[in-house]
Amino acid sequence: MELLKRRIQQDGTVKGNDVLKVDSFLNHQMDIALFEEIGKEFLRRFEGCGVNKILTIEASGIGIACITAQFFRCPVVFAKKSQTKNIAGDLYTTKVESFTHGRVYDVIVSQKFLGRSDKVLIIDDFLANGAALEGLIDLVHQSGAQLAGAGIVIEKAFQPGGDRLRAKGVRVESLARVKSMCEETGVEFLD
Ligand code: 5GP
Repeated sequence: MELLKRRIQQDGTVKGNDVLKVDSFLNHQMDIALFEEIGKEFLRRFEGCGVNKILTIEASGIGIACITAQFFRCPVVFAKKSQTKNIAGDLYTTKVESFTHGRVYDVIVSQKFLGRSDKVLIIDDFLANGAALEGLIDLVHQSGAQLAGAGIVIEKAFQPGGDRLRAKGVRVESLARVKSMCEETGVEFLD
């Protein structure tokens, strides 16, 4: 998606060898006009797949998932990063190691909101080592729902998550695939 790639090159900053900061438009301040284009592109790629639910993980996936859901006309469920007492009933649970915080979270979804009748599109902002996506896929499998695939805004393709999940047969659609990046020269894309 050229618009997104141009924006990453213009406003993204690289920290160290493997962290891309896109706080000014994606995951702190959010550019909703850009999110609309992202949502339309996810619809173009997954239209006709029968998606009736979008699943994401808190926090930075939520905004993108909500705007995308307007195009799919379906609800969004977000996986919560720790057990909270205000969720009644049974839960699907899994563990996710956070790339950015380097710790392991329990991640939960109420069984009320995901089940056999659902066809799920997973949406997230980044794909790096794949732990977040694998955790969400585990929740989908526990629920008996079908997985349509995953829509990722930025895949760091030099990290192993995308290749590993595609090799397992998961349809992963990433709108910008980063081939390499460095603080001095910036970001280079795969295609
Ligand atoms: P993974 O589980 O694939 O290793 O990492 C995915 C999660 O880590 C995403 O949900 C995202 O929040 C965070 N993440 C991974 N890499 C980056 C990065 O380069 N920049 C930012 N801002 N977040 C990242």
